[in-house]
Amino acid sequence: MTCFIDTHAHLDAAEFNADRAAVRQRARAAGVLTCVIPAVRATHFDSVRDLAHAQQDVYALGIHPLYTPQARDDELALLDAALLSHHHDPRLVAVGEIGLDGFVPELNTPEAWAKQQLFYKAQLKLAYKHQLPVILHVRRSADLLLKGLRDTPVVGGIAHAFNGSLQQAQAFIALGFKLGFGGALTYDRALQLRRLATELPLSAIVLETDAPDIPPHWLYATAQQRAAGQAQGRNEPAELPRIAQVLAELRGITVDEVANATRANTREALPRLQ
Ligand SMILES: [Zn+2]
Repeated sequence: MTCFIDTHAHLDAAEFNADRAAVRQRARAAGVLTCVIPAVRATHFDSVRDLAHAQQDVYALGIHPLYTPQARDDELALLDAALLSHHHDPRLVAVGEIGLDGFVPELNTPEAWAKQQLFYKAQLKLAYKHQLPVILHVRRSADLLLKGLRDTPVVGGIAHAFNGSLQQAQAFIALGFKLGFGGALTYDRALQLRRLATELPLSAIVLETDAPDIPPHWLYATAQQRAAGQAQGRNEPAELPRIAQVLAELRGITVDEVANATRANTREALPRLQ
């Protein structure tokens, strides 16, 4: 069986409350042996860790940029303490999800932006202190994230749901990062992203679903369908093999080659997965 690692699945999200075990079972049946579950806020640290252990998955601890407006300053101390007390937990593989979001208007007022920057830089420092890679949220923020990575030493990681330029991709790779590709590349109109996924060295790529978000095209409900009452399709890790198939076709290689390479790349980016 062809095996995959989903490097980004928010399996703790409320969208999965009704059928979490079935979702995980479907993924396993499809060959997705490991999911990386990134936390998004300090109040989720325990549940993300418990879930990773219950499902034989792995996890990351961090405060997501979308949650920085309501985050209290002591959450950085909570993260530091959690990274320390779970340092010997082999299922703790990274600090994440951290980063900067340049897209959501409420996060880009001067005050909110300053807080995003403060949390990003502080969490980069914590990742280095605890010698863990980082899982980065990149949305209209690649250059500023790269600046942070040049100012603060890092041990590498993953730029998740990457959708930047070739130059930005190469800059992340030069800093020891892998780039996460998922459902977004399944859309015919995603020309720039598809070109990137085709032209980058395969050694730079890891696979992800970002479940429950970023549905691949076969799950996507159009604005018209949503207006007619159809819910947006929920993405889940079981979709990963089909996403890998799209990448294989774009690159003109087999899905096994994609699976083998991206698993090895993931272990390079997240060495605790070895
Ligand atoms: Zn995420």
